[in-house]
Amino acid sequence: MTYSSATGTLFVVATPIGNLDDMVPRAIETLQSVNVIAAEDTRHSGRLLARFAIETPSLAYHDHSDDRRLEDLLGRLQTGENVALISDAGTPLVSDPGYRLVRAARERGFTVVPIPGPCALVAALSASGLASDRFSFEGFLPAKSGARRHALDALAREPRTLIFYEAPHRVLECLRDMQQVFGSQREAVLARELTKTFETIHSAPLAELTEFVAGDSNQQRGEIVLLVQGAPKNAGSELDSEAERIMGVLLEELPLKQAASLGAKLTGLKKNFLYQWALDKTQGH
Ligand code: SAM
Repeated sequence: MTYSSATGTLFVVATPIGNLDDMVPRAIETLQSVNVIAAEDTRHSGRLLARFAIETPSLAYHDHSDDRRLEDLLGRLQTGENVALISDAGTPLVSDPGYRLVRAARERGFTVVPIPGPCALVAALSASGLASDRFSFEGFLPAKSGARRHALDALAREPRTLIFYEAPHRVLECLRDMQQVFGSQREAVLARELTKTFETIHSAPLAELTEFVAGDSNQQRGEIVLLVQGAPKNAGSELDSEAERIMGVLLEELPLKQAASLGAKLTGLKKNFLYQWALDKTQGH
């Protein structure tokens, strides 16, 4: 494929997420042939470039690089130079820098060409066994527990498969929060160190997956994608039998809102979740 025009082309190039043999030939050719490589971290990418004998000069680009760096790259495109954008691993712009540059390049009418390749969320989904016809990529959850719970609450009834990136030192607390919000029986998958020596893809209901990670500190290392089955149509099936019994008793005696509130205190589950569960139940869903 040739791209000839008076102005340059911006190539958005995916690179491996661990195993360097996943570098696709077209990515190598592109990085060898462009005038400059805009890299998230030039030192990090140096190893990849050396492995494939790519001698093209590189410069650092981050979405919070100052405007001069952005203008410098756009100026190069204007004068006919071809630019390749790469990140430390995987597909640029996917929880990685590049959005500002791609947006600005397209706004100014430059051709933007993707060179597709590895992406952790797609690799994880493809091997997870969870529904893949519809999914929602949520990127990284907030680091602080309160904000994380809030973000998870908003997803409690999302029917699509949920995909998250998570830092290893937070994976356990994140799984505990997920169990609280989504229920202990919702199926989830830990996809860790994909394409690398210690690749692990483990699926289990959230309660079991949390125990698995809690009981083996190795599972709290490396790079991690967490996937969670979407909410079933009938959210009621997510309550375990004890919580369902408690809610049944409360609903016989109390209005819905109070039952949900007291139920939350007794079961440790979220008030909103129980409220919605009770609503669905009373409406016969
Ligand atoms: N742009 C990358 C992509 O296309 O997947 C993602 C970059 S993001 C800064 C890094 C996160 O992606 C990691 O914290 C982890 O959640 C996930 N990730 C990257 N490589 C991975 C791997 N080999 N195995 C599992 N997760 C990975």
